[in-house]
Amino acid sequence: MYDIAIIGLGPAGATLSRLLDKKYKVIAIDRKNPERGKCCGGLLSPDAQKILAQFDICLPKDILVDPQIFSVKTIDFDNHIEKFYQRFYMNMNRAKFDDFLISLIPGSVEICNDSICVKIEKENDAYRLTFRTNGVERTEKSKIVIGADGANSIVRKTFYKNNKIHKYTAIQEWYEYSVNSPFYSCIFDKEITDSYSWTISKDNYFIIGGAFPIKNSNMRFEMLKEKIRNSGIYFETLIKREGCFVYLNKGFMSTCTGRNGAYLTGEAAGMISPSSLEGISYSMESGKILAGIINKDRGDVGRKYFIKTLGIRIKLIFKIMKMPFMYNKFLRKIIMKSGIKSIKKHLI
Ligand SMILES: Cc1cc2nc3c(=O)[nH]c(=O)nc-3n(C[C@H](O)[C@H](O)[C@H](O)COP(=O)(O)OP(=O)(O)OC[C@H]3O[C@@H](n4cnc5c(N)ncnc54)[C@H](O)[C@@H]3O)c2cc1C
Repeated sequence: MYDIAIIGLGPAGATLSRLLDKKYKVIAIDRKNPERGKCCGGLLSPDAQKILAQFDICLPKDILVDPQIFSVKTIDFDNHIEKFYQRFYMNMNRAKFDDFLISLIPGSVEICNDSICVKIEKENDAYRLTFRTNGVERTEKSKIVIGADGANSIVRKTFYKNNKIHKYTAIQEWYEYSVNSPFYSCIFDKEITDSYSWTISKDNYFIIGGAFPIKNSNMRFEMLKEKIRNSGIYFETLIKREGCFVYLNKGFMSTCTGRNGAYLTGEAAGMISPSSLEGISYSMESGKILAGIINKDRGDVGRKYFIKTLGIRIKLIFKIMKMPFMYNKFLRKIIMKSGIKSIKKHLI
């Protein structure tokens, strides 16, 4: 019998596993394959940098990629406007970042890599988990189960399916570099998606991605590439294609932290910005809060966790309120035309 079973070792699960008291018997199950990292833009936001600073964690430089870019080119295909805005992201290799966070987990946590949790059942006062490692099935019991398993969370689907949250398909393709000067872009086009799309330069690759409604997501992605090509950006040799689900927390009630020994953290809890899809900071923050409450070992964990994550939920409500200004074609036109917060490029 384990005290705590954690499903998923992304930023949320890795932070939680690292911070849990060694008095607990902890198992962490993660299906990530080292060959195939998480489909992600790999941009470390100032909020995420601040959390790393609070943990006194310094990033080894091999996690960063080339180049570091200081502005985002916002392309509004609906209104035919382009503007640049200053950004403070760090451009990094997401797979290496996840591996680094996992490397900080103490040896007292039993890590099951390349393992997929396929079933969780409540059994008296414990949870019975079934997971597969290299095709071999294993069953374990735990007093507490924590879903740090991102969008499409099995813990959320099993225990909290009534807490509805929108699910989109994210697709990214990596191309051999053939763009004159590196840039990030953020693309708005109602015909393609009511979320947004992007391009990122990373090492010797040019990445095109977007978050699309699940229906016709492939067709929408093809349309995106077509429009980018038509705008004069050239890319040809495809290196790899990746995809995953992403939660789009558009409602005030879509976050769910869990109760009675089955808790959710990070994106599984709906803690991801619906406006920018930035989520690493919320995942590390919620993992840290949950570990702190469990370590105190007093009172109702579910209630305390719900209360202590209020700050995150308020931040997300502000992001939801920001959405019309980004996603409504007319409001966006007014803002972009006004030039507020945009920067002028002095091109030679
Ligand atoms: C395309 C895209 C681009 C993004 N770009 C950025 C960005 O640039 N910056 C940013 O801050 N955020 C970005 N995000 C959001 C960010 O990726 C997520 O918010 C963040 O990864 C969530 O962390 P997490 O630990 O909660 O979940 P995840 O990182 O999704 O980790 C979940 C882990 O659980 C494992 N898992 C899932 N199901 C099971 C199972 N049944 N059994 C075992 N293991 C399981 C997965 O393999 C994974 O390792 C992006 C998201 C997408 C989709």
